[in-house]
Amino acid sequence: MSSIWVNSLEYKNSFDRLARDIETDVCIIGAGIFGLTTAYYLSKLGYKVTVIERGKVSRKTTAKTTAKITSQHGLIYKYLIDSQGKELAKQYLNANEKAIKNIKEIIDNEKIDCDFEFQNSYVYTTDSKEIGKIRLENESVNSLGFQSEFVTNTELPFEIFGAIKFPNQAQFNPLKYVDGLVKSILNNSGKIYTDTIVYDVDEKDGGLVTYTKNNKVKSKYVVIASHYPFVNKLGYYFLKMYQSTSYVIAVDIGDDCFDGMYINTTDPIFSYRFANFNGKRILLVGGADHKTGANIDLTNAYQILESEVKKYYSKAKVLYRWNTEDCITLDKIPYIGEFSNFMNNVFVGTGFNKWGMTSSNVAANIIKDKILGVENKYEDVFKSTRLHPIKNSTEFGNMIKESTNSLILNKFKIPEEDVIKIKKGEGKVLEYDNYKFGVYKDESGKVHVVKPICTHLGCLLNWNNLDKTWDCPCHGSRFDYTGKNLYDPAIKDLENYTF
Ligand SMILES: Cc1cc2nc3c(=O)[nH]c(=O)nc-3n(C[C@H](O)[C@H](O)[C@H](O)COP(=O)(O)OP(=O)(O)OC[C@H]3O[C@@H](n4cnc5c(N)ncnc54)[C@H](O)[C@@H]3O)c2cc1C
Repeated sequence: MSSIWVNSLEYKNSFDRLARDIETDVCIIGAGIFGLTTAYYLSKLGYKVTVIERGKVSRKTTAKTTAKITSQHGLIYKYLIDSQGKELAKQYLNANEKAIKNIKEIIDNEKIDCDFEFQNSYVYTTDSKEIGKIRLENESVNSLGFQSEFVTNTELPFEIFGAIKFPNQAQFNPLKYVDGLVKSILNNSGKIYTDTIVYDVDEKDGGLVTYTKNNKVKSKYVVIASHYPFVNKLGYYFLKMYQSTSYVIAVDIGDDCFDGMYINTTDPIFSYRFANFNGKRILLVGGADHKTGANIDLTNAYQILESEVKKYYSKAKVLYRWNTEDCITLDKIPYIGEFSNFMNNVFVGTGFNKWGMTSSNVAANIIKDKILGVENKYEDVFKSTRLHPIKNSTEFGNMIKESTNSLILNKFKIPEEDVIKIKKGEGKVLEYDNYKFGVYKDESGKVHVVKPICTHLGCLLNWNNLDKTWDCPCHGSRFDYTGKNLYDPAIKDLENYTF
């Protein structure tokens, strides 16, 4: 499951856990691309910055991205013009175009060797019925003053009906890039602590306190850069976002290679770009998206991507496979700015909708300007406290119902005959007297039992038969079969039981 980016690093950072109470100007929770970009800008300005990371630096979403740096976020601009008006759509475009320039500027200034290269970006279709949509998107983008182009030829190894081309977009190796940010943060006296989970943030004595298991960080400002905000009170992000999983394979296709970054418009989604790895050009194919925690058979998820590549490159050799999830907002715009109207000096950047390379830079700049007390011309577009339609009411109802599930499972014994029916490698939720048990039988026949209720907000978990994990259909938290928490927004493990 580890990505091509993780395997391309020669040098691996290592940091201490937080083991004492400290004070800082800005406490940043999470060392992904967003947290580190924010830390980079603020530490350069002379702020005392501390980053607290629950795992290792940038080993979650940022380590598993495809790292296209683009303002072409699917077919978003016609949608934004129709739903939010032309001015907002234009600002969204300009903010993301500016982010591409900012990233290049950071790379040049800090001399970061991260395989940055300009590329054209394309959204294409192989379905004649989709052509109208692509043409309309192109007209919409042109009306915002950006010179996109409708094309019918690309370098893809198959025929397309049409595509919208954005010139001067880019791609890089995201972990080499964040490594460069880390070096600069440390040079500017910033501090990074890893393997330290943050559980809560609170206002106290006119300042802010960030709580880890054993310690406190006092600060004037807090930036929640944890991907999905784990602090539920006051922010209500759990009502405004869900997570979506995508799969990626890194494929050696020999000497063939083509320019450009591509994504199609219809399901199953396919995304393409090349990356440098061990002196070769390796094709990254992403897609096969689904809502995280969906109760579906996932055993073929990578197969969908592999079969597609093998249609064009029969000798293609898959080097790496991985998957991860990103936060999706209901109006397709990230949440950036004040975490809540009820908490001062706490900021957030989330809901990057699988376009976090530019969005994280937009977010870091908006938050830097908020802390500096200067206006940022894009802040209203992304305002995190904006009002939203409430998420799918059925799902919300389920979530509430599941949260009230009882907590006294230990008193019950699972009938052995039901466990015997579970095959090796299979996981299932079993129910007795209204109590639910998540049962997984491993390949050796050992049975692992957890309480399959998410420790975030109490939703019933679904079994993921590909990764052997328990996944939350409400907000995308994930747990391994022993109950260990793997993915936000949950921060606590599941209860587990001996069978
Ligand atoms: C398969 C896939 C492909 C993608 N491809 C692209 C692409 O081509 N271009 C693009 O622009 N975007 C892409 N994205 C989206 C992009 O990768 C993400 O939006 C971005 O990496 C998110 O960065 P982040 O810093 O917000 O989150 P993360 O990288 O997840 O960082 C958050 C950090 O916070 C830490 N954390 C969480 N909770 C706590 C806590 N309680 N205490 C302390 N630390 C905590 C986590 O351990 C993590 O390290 C893709 C996403 C997916 C899923």
